[in-house]
Amino acid sequence: MLKLLFAVGFTAWTAFGSAVAQIAPARFDRQVVVSVFPRGAADIEFMDFISSDRWTCGPGGPNSEADYRISNDQVPELQRRGIPFRVAIPDVQALLDREQAAMKHAARDAGVFGSFPTYAQTGAFIDSLVANHPTLATRLNLGNSLEGRQIFGVRVTGTAPGVGDSGRKPAIVLQSLQHAREWAGLTSNLYTVNWLLENYQSDTTVRRLLDEYEIYVVPIVNPDGYEITWTWYRYWRKNARVQTPPGYVVGVDLNRNWSVGYGLNSGSSASYNSETYRGPSAFSEPETRVMRDFILSLPKLAAFVDIHTYAGKVLRPWAYQWQTPPGYFGLMRVGQAMVDSVQSGTGIRYFVGGPEILYLASGVAPDWAYGTTGAVSFTIEMQSEYGFSPGPETIVQSGEECRLAILAMLRSLCRADFNLDNVVDDADFVLFLNAYSALLSNGGDLSGDGKTDDADFSLFAPAYDSLTCP
Ligand SMILES: [Zn+2]
Repeated sequence: MLKLLFAVGFTAWTAFGSAVAQIAPARFDRQVVVSVFPRGAADIEFMDFISSDRWTCGPGGPNSEADYRISNDQVPELQRRGIPFRVAIPDVQALLDREQAAMKHAARDAGVFGSFPTYAQTGAFIDSLVANHPTLATRLNLGNSLEGRQIFGVRVTGTAPGVGDSGRKPAIVLQSLQHAREWAGLTSNLYTVNWLLENYQSDTTVRRLLDEYEIYVVPIVNPDGYEITWTWYRYWRKNARVQTPPGYVVGVDLNRNWSVGYGLNSGSSASYNSETYRGPSAFSEPETRVMRDFILSLPKLAAFVDIHTYAGKVLRPWAYQWQTPPGYFGLMRVGQAMVDSVQSGTGIRYFVGGPEILYLASGVAPDWAYGTTGAVSFTIEMQSEYGFSPGPETIVQSGEECRLAILAMLRSLCRADFNLDNVVDDADFVLFLNAYSALLSNGGDLSGDGKTDDADFSLFAPAYDSLTCP
């Protein structure tokens, strides 16, 4: 409710744009975040009633902990009702003050891993990556947000040429910041691509992977929402969609706006007041359309990762239904390798799974990527001790976790295992032959040029002979 009041208050300003920065940012006095363990639907309903802002990424479900931002005054009511909970963040405004102070304290030249970067600083950082690694990195302009901000990215690939006719390679897409307030997702993504570039010359595994794949990093999918988090509402989640009526910024949850599973199974909301408002139709928002069109323009998508905060989880498809997808075992093998790598590298334990370890969420990007292209697709939820304000001192730590997970994913991909059952066998051979005889289909495309031909057979044969990936 509070958020809505702020939105109402800022109506005139946001509609006319330029005055926004002069307005005092929203405050979160007497607000707490509680971790609730709902005993059933009634508890979830009650929490949704008293809180307009869940701090976990999706709608709650029984048997899973969910964080809610509520007023301090509402805590006794939880106790009275016997709802199991603990106070995770006792003072939201203090959390925000602490973050702001730490960022002010960080050296002016701390760079993007010393303090959180603005939209402009993120763009400048991408430019610096390209300037420092001109043979490996290229800046891309994918399209514009609702308010006309550029959604930019960087393409990173090694100097070895691609195998197929086109010279292209199988593509990996790493996107972050669909949800504007999840700043650590942005910095973790930037850290990962920077780490890959910095280690290309010295690390043989990195060199092999960058020579094998084209990696596309899109750090800020939701630039308008990100701007809101820097100007007048730090914990803004959605984009900057204006609803008419009522005529003010309500925002659409971009990660409920993709077409696969859109609007199904209560994994999103039809109400614009909701933090999980899915918009009037799938791909109603320019930001999701830009990403969709970009991904579909790639001849062959091999993997897709959508980076969020702050659950400490690696999530496989499907998010929108309990039923497991075809390829479940292959997805779980790769996901397990990701969380194992984070644990052995940092000691921090992430969990891998589907909606059973978070919630049903419908219309999310990885479900669309997996359902549409068949590429290995995950959500990574970076962990955080301090909700959406982890503090700049955690940027490097989160970045390490992210790059360990991404590197493990890249190493674990087995593209010849078309049906993702963890063995390259006759079933995959049949799928390959079907694609090969159709020639137009990219179903057996291993080279990344978008079609299945002799080059792919030469890549498939050794994997098939050894029943595993080369
Ligand atoms: Zn999120």
